[in-house]
Order: sequence, then structure tokens, then C-alpha cells
Amino acid sequence: MDNVLTDKTFPPLQGAQAHDAPSRPAALAEFGLDGMLLSANAEFLQLLHYEEEAVVGRHHSLFLFSEDRDDPQYQALWDLLRAGQSVQREFRRLAGNGQEIWLQASYSPILSDDGTLKGIRKIATDVTAKKRQTANQENILAAISRSTAMVEFAMDGTIIAANANFAALMGYDIDELLGRNHSEFVPAEIVQSPAYAALWNRLRSGEFVQAELSRINRCGRIVWLQASYSPVVDAAGRTVKVMKIATDITERMMQSAEAERLALLDPLTGISNRRGFDLALAAALEDFRRGTEPISLLLLDVDHFKAFNDIYGHQIGDRCLRKVAKALERSVGRPESLVARYGGEEFAVLLPNTTRLEAARVAEAARAAIQGLGIDHPGNAGWGSVTASLGHVTFEAGRDERFHTATELVTAADRALYTAKRLGRNHVADAVDPHSRNSLTIYQVGPVDDPLAQEPDVVRSGGPRRSGLR
Ligand code: GH3
Ligand code: MG
Ligand code: MG
Repeated sequence: MDNVLTDKTFPPLQGAQAHDAPSRPAALAEFGLDGMLLSANAEFLQLLHYEEEAVVGRHHSLFLFSEDRDDPQYQALWDLLRAGQSVQREFRRLAGNGQEIWLQASYSPILSDDGTLKGIRKIATDVTAKKRQTANQENILAAISRSTAMVEFAMDGTIIAANANFAALMGYDIDELLGRNHSEFVPAEIVQSPAYAALWNRLRSGEFVQAELSRINRCGRIVWLQASYSPVVDAAGRTVKVMKIATDITERMMQSAEAERLALLDPLTGISNRRGFDLALAAALEDFRRGTEPISLLLLDVDHFKAFNDIYGHQIGDRCLRKVAKALERSVGRPESLVARYGGEEFAVLLPNTTRLEAARVAEAARAAIQGLGIDHPGNAGWGSVTASLGHVTFEAGRDERFHTATELVTAADRALYTAKRLGRNHVADAVDPHSRNSLTIYQVGPVDDPLAQEPDVVRSGGPRRSGLR
């Protein structure tokens, strides 16, 4: 028998095996055609954790897990080897210590002098660590792929790969996505924006980009993604493709939009709250400063409401406030307006593009509507039912911008409201822009320190009394 361990004609290592070959001697073993181990070197024994006497004379299948032994592929391997073929690949083996070991193994025929096949020579390298690392990376990738949407783009934006999650998210099959362009899923106005070109320039220069962005799925619906774009470079350092990993955050975005919406609403009445009002007022004043239309504001305060609570209790007080809010909304009925609970029993109506005359009409309609509710209020001296006092103000466009602030507008409306209170409640008072030099000013409230110095004219009105809330 040839001793493989001293055979100097052993073929050189090939491919990956060559890379993995350790500097120490290779693990070598020789098997008979029946699969029995004839000899093994110290490295082989060490690698597989066996003593020589425990393995020599034993069948090759000793090194296999039982499930691999029954695998038809194992039988096929030996059929090939017995047919004189060489086989080289990675094999999973069972070491003597019960551990799994991965070998990059090369089986080659041993020929006798007359050229007949007399045995199989095996040279093996331990690739367990590399295999585990690869498996680990594959597991990580599989885990990421299971939970996230992944897609790869060529540098011109063409989709070159996508996983099932990404396809599902966009409402397509993977095949339908391949070859399409990134821009097809981006809202048109964004594609045309400089920011979109900038994104691709950054990616081409190899920059990692992370963003929360919206995309359009097959049904035309907006899908929100938390996405990271990672440019992939080749060996020469050129950016060859972009890998995008995305998580669907549509629900979170919707929830936060809903939370944002709720944060602007008053829970008691369901109308806008002070915060919503402040935001709307700031935005409306911006438009007002740029435009040519006047802007009006109306403030309303329920009369003697403390007494109402004292008489009926806070719960009925709350119901009353809800009714007042509804009545106010109904009476305003202008699409551009915003009805808000300014605080407590005070309400505000923001009326963009509304003249003084129109604002006065809205205010009077609101006053009448609230009195028209006919809610008993014995503590409301002189009226007997729930009423409110209202002040309103209008800024005409094209005046000195310094005075056209939110504070100015609210202060002026508040002064008018105070005046309406002083006039006996259930009244409407109009404060014109205190900085206006408009000679047509009819209703004028006085300076802050003496609001009644110039008693304004008021629209005095009062309605019939009706029965109560409960
Ligand atoms: P005036 O005619 O001068 O406005 O008298 P008023 O009693 O309405 O004014 P005041 O500011 O003294 O009292 C306002 C009352 O509004 C005090 C408070 O009990 C009541 N109030 C404020 N917020 C609520 C609320 O959310 N629910 C109820 N039930 N009452 C409220
Ligand atoms: Mg008040
Ligand atoms: Mg009040």
C-alpha cells in the first residue's frame, strides 16, 4: 500500500482550499474503496478529535452525523469516488468530541502502478470558523430581510434586487419591481426637486444617507419609510450600487399625525384648542401680511358662568360649554374660519379674509345663537338664560406691519369684549384696528389703561328667553 503521508506527488491545493490552507501540515487520510480508513496523519486525527486506533479500520461514515449518513448525497459521493472521480467541496463532519466541524476536503483517487483505482486520498482543511461566520452573517441578513424591506439600486436608480418585504410594501411582485426606477415610487414633486438630485449625488459620492420619507405604492397610497441608503463600492473604490434598507413606519406616522391632530383639539368640546388657535392665527397673519384681504378675530366669553357652575355644578357647566361651542360653530359657518376654545368659558373665532362688516354679522349671529339655546341661567342678571358677550376686531390689509401682530389682534378683540361686558353682557362690541387712521372708524375702544375712556358704540341686542338646559 502507498503511504499517502509520505507521497510527495500530492496534488497542490486548489481555489478556496489554497486560501484557507494553514501553514501547518495538511490533514491527510487514506480510505479503501470500501470506505474504510486505512491511515491518517496526526493533523487529521487532531482535527477530528480521534486517537489513531479509534479510527483506523473504521468506516468513513464514522465522521458523519447520522442524518447525513442516510442522505442519498452521501451514497452519491462514494459512487463518484469509486468511479475514480475527484471531489472537492465543503463537508459537514462529526468530530470525535461530538462537535460539528466543517472541512474543505478534497478526495482524489489513488492509482496503483497499473493504473487501477486502489484507494481514496483525502486532504482536509478546517473551515468551521469561516463557515460559522458566513452562516452568522447569513442569519443576520436573513433576520434583517425578514423584518425589513430591502432593495438594491444601480447607480442610475434602476432596481436590481428586492426582497419580498419591499415588494409587499410597494404592492408588487419582486419580478415586477426589477428594472423599474427609484423615481417611479417617489411623488413627482419630489423627483423634480433639487433635493432629489442631491440625494443621488450624495449616494454616487459614496455617502450613507438616512431619512424618513414617503413613497407611493401600487394602489397610489403613501407609504412612510424609515430608510437607509448604503452605497456599495467595488474593489477599486467605485460606487457600484446602493443598498436600501427600509422599515415601514406608515402606522407610526399616521398615529403621530393623529396625535398631533388631537393635541390641537379641546377634549371637552372637540373644537380647536388654544394651541390650535395660536398656530392658525400665526399662519393666517402670515397670509394677511402678504395679501390684500382683511383679517378679523372674534372673542366670546360666556356671561356669569361662574354663577352657572355654582348653581348647577360643573358637569352641567361642561354640557353647557359643549352646547355653546356647537352653537358657535353652527352660527359661524364659514369654511375658512377657525372656532377655538380659547380657555375656560372663552371662545375665539378666527376669520381670515373677513371684513369688519362681515365679522360684525358673524358676531351677532353667534350672540343670538347662544341666547337662542335657551339654557336657564338664573345667575345671569337681566337675561335669565345663558348668554355670551363678544368683541371683534378687523385688521385691514396694507397697514403698518409693526402693529399687525397676534398680540395686537387678540388684545384689541379682548378690549372690545370687555366693553361688551360693561355694556350689560349679551352684547357685541367692535374694536377697529387701534392703529388705523381710517376716518370711517365707528366703534372705537379706548387705550389699555382706560378701556372705557372712549366708550364705543355697540350693537346692542338681546333675544327672547327660553327654557333651560335640563
Ligand atoms: P363674566 O360674565 O364676567 O365672564 O363672569 P364669569 O363668571 O363668566 O367669569 P369668571 O372669569 O369669574 O368665571 C369663569 C368661570 O368659568 C369660572 C369657572 O368655574 C368656569 N369654567 C372655566 N372652565 C370651565 C370648564 O371647563 N367647565 C366648567 N363647568 N366651568 C368652567
Ligand atoms: Mg372669562
Ligand atoms: Mg365669563
